[in-house]
Amino acid sequence: MARFLSAATSRNFPNALDFKRCRAPFCAALFVLLLAACSQAESSRAEFVLGTVCSVTLFDQAKDRIYQDIFNRIREIENRMSVNIPVSDVSRINAAAGIEPVQVHDETFKVIERALHFAEQSGGAFDPTVEPLVSLWGVPGSNDRLQLNVRVPSQTEIDAVLPLINWRNVELDHHTRSVFLRRRGMALDLGAIAKGYAADEAAAIIRSAGVKRAIIDLGGNIFTVGVKKNKSPWRVGIQHPLEERGFTIGMVQTTEQTVVTSGVYERFFEADSVKYHHIFSPSRGYPVNNGLLSVTVICSVSMDADALSTAAFVMGYARGRALVESFPGAEAVFVFEDLSVWKTLGVNFTLTDKSFRLARETSLH
Ligand code: AMP
Ligand code: MG
Repeated sequence: MARFLSAATSRNFPNALDFKRCRAPFCAALFVLLLAACSQAESSRAEFVLGTVCSVTLFDQAKDRIYQDIFNRIREIENRMSVNIPVSDVSRINAAAGIEPVQVHDETFKVIERALHFAEQSGGAFDPTVEPLVSLWGVPGSNDRLQLNVRVPSQTEIDAVLPLINWRNVELDHHTRSVFLRRRGMALDLGAIAKGYAADEAAAIIRSAGVKRAIIDLGGNIFTVGVKKNKSPWRVGIQHPLEERGFTIGMVQTTEQTVVTSGVYERFFEADSVKYHHIFSPSRGYPVNNGLLSVTVICSVSMDADALSTAAFVMGYARGRALVESFPGAEAVFVFEDLSVWKTLGVNFTLTDKSFRLARETSLH
């Protein structure tokens, strides 16, 4: 089993802002590690933002100003979309739930609209109104020292919040760019999609600055810009779901693509020898328990890959794969508890950890 050190692990993280309730700076979801030849890199910068370690590596024209622009932009997105920043658009929407619509910035509106699109496409498996469940369970970040305070909620507590989880009760007004949550107690959480959006925005800055080759890693939401110097594709490792960060089970090859994983190991706590992770079934109110350990989605838009990987994780293999395949150009790799690995036909995936078993290529249709 190979271990690859991420460029992001040894940096300083000056801004410990909390995007997904992580309380410690090293709770980063570095579940996909780059196998790119780092010797090519002119420089790399990492900061703690969006509740995770975000790193950017520019392989040419690595100018301070470009890094500044990228991290300022990511922080701007966090300030608008974080559920933990009291003045963010999302917090204002949540505070006005059941009371009145709230006008938000264009980009917040756009991300919420896209989240609702995925909610619809996934039959509600992906649901941005999942926040009351996220709060109730309070799954800490993986390095969170407050893990001891976490407990499994009672069925009564879960039943009390379930009626609040319903994406159909989000009203969008396109004219006023305002968002209204119909019921008091409802709340949005864009944690399953906003990092992807931020990765797309970072990639846009990099391209408009004329940088030809770059890698963006927003806590495991990877975006590979351009091709390697020798014109070969990037190789992005898929994290071993049961091992320390940095151990990979295989790799996918990408060019101008994003690779995003949703996995049980990202954030979880343990009670009575059972692990409870952070991706919830909106209908049952419990962490999804369908035999999957992780789903990785590869496509050209990171916001879509982010939403799709979470959605496919909740939906399970058959429905999740069908959802991914309904998006042109999107591919996926599914890793199961029984160590089987299933993938869509178009992904260029190489399994390197022989304790896993790659399922025979089949088409769903
Ligand atoms: P990701 O790591 O992108 O799969 O996103 C997981 C995060 O999204 C969690 O930490 C929650 O904040 C939120 N979340 C959990 N379950 C869901 C769900 N079923 N639909 C949408 N967001 C969810
Ligand atoms: Mg996601």
